[in-house]
Amino acid sequence: MSDAKNSFKGINTRLAHSGNNPRDFHGFVNPPVVHASTVLFPDAATMASRNQKYTYGTRGTPTSEALAVAVDELEGSAGTIIVPSGLAAVTVPLLAFLSAGDHVLIVDSVYSPTRNFANTMLRRLGVEVQYYEPTAGGEIASLMKPNTKVVFTEAPGSNTFEMQDIPAIAEAAHAGGAIVMMDNTWATPIFFKPLDFGVDVSIHASTKYPAGHSDVLLGTVSANEKCWPQLHDAFLALGVCAAPDDVYQVLRGMRTMGIRLERHQESALAIARWLEGQDGVARVLHPALESHPGHALWKRDFSGSSGIFSIVLSGGGPRQAHAFLDALQLFGLGYSWGGYESLAVHVYLGDREIAKGPYEGPLIRLQIGLEDVADIKADIERGLKAARGARE
Ligand SMILES: *Cc1c(COP(=O)(O)O)cnc(C)c1O
Repeated sequence: MSDAKNSFKGINTRLAHSGNNPRDFHGFVNPPVVHASTVLFPDAATMASRNQKYTYGTRGTPTSEALAVAVDELEGSAGTIIVPSGLAAVTVPLLAFLSAGDHVLIVDSVYSPTRNFANTMLRRLGVEVQYYEPTAGGEIASLMKPNTKVVFTEAPGSNTFEMQDIPAIAEAAHAGGAIVMMDNTWATPIFFKPLDFGVDVSIHASTKYPAGHSDVLLGTVSANEKCWPQLHDAFLALGVCAAPDDVYQVLRGMRTMGIRLERHQESALAIARWLEGQDGVARVLHPALESHPGHALWKRDFSGSSGIFSIVLSGGGPRQAHAFLDALQLFGLGYSWGGYESLAVHVYLGDREIAKGPYEGPLIRLQIGLEDVADIKADIERGLKAARGARE
């Protein structure tokens, strides 16, 4: 990246141009997709010293480098690793920074498979796992132990969208000698830059908005200067490199991520506001709504909101939730989000210890896609009507 390019500050300009220099590849606009295990050395001395930029496929290629550089520019990080899924982007840094006898604090509204990893593998490896209330903020200080090495945050929380006071948590964690990780998948670095708020390691499921088309699994982990060497060493030790075509697809997706997110944001917010007045909806869990308990934190720290939130149906249980879902014609019923199409799921809170309500009724998570708002609303109306019908 030339110095002249580095001076472009606008987010969409950066998304369009960061990560590769066409001059490096004969002027072609996009970098090549390098399929590689072996990299050849010119002579024995170079091979013995490994003194060349690329040495083996697991250690990086021009393709992975292009995406890592692009993500570093967005995150303001010292380095980024690229791994085969968003879940690997959670597990690799936890493995990198936790050892037997350590204590980890994890927000209770965490992405469910993160909890599963902590409860099974981290505990088996001798790590003490403790969950904390998403609204804890600076009070996290009272949960810190001498062996607390990592505070793991996610904001807003998965499915229930609690906001966290990230700067207050970072201050307390650092004072106690721990580092802070954040799963920032919801906001993307466009709407929140964790490292600017005291986070040491920023985690993304690139599967979501960066890929954007429900056809790729990928994750990125970006670290500040302090944490980069240890993160990078663990990445090399584990051998969890991602496949080149997937890496390329995510870099390609990032070129349009800014404008896609603008639309996701606008449509989701319009629908969330409209849902607040609908019969059968007790609450809308979307931090950009003034009614949301975490709204002030969101407004203070975030510069936008993405396309996923939940609604709480007024009363009922699984039968009403299933009636809602089964009446939908446009929304797909499926996991994940961040693609161009609308999706709905019945939220499961059974593995929560603290952040489990009470809620007035079942929760439905809605990913608002790029379809026309009028069509999305009409579909949700079908769902609400069916849920009301299932109550009688
Ligand atoms: C989806 C998701 C992940 C995992 O991403 P995959 O690529 O599906 O493994 C991690 N964290 C959050 C918050 C997610 O929503």
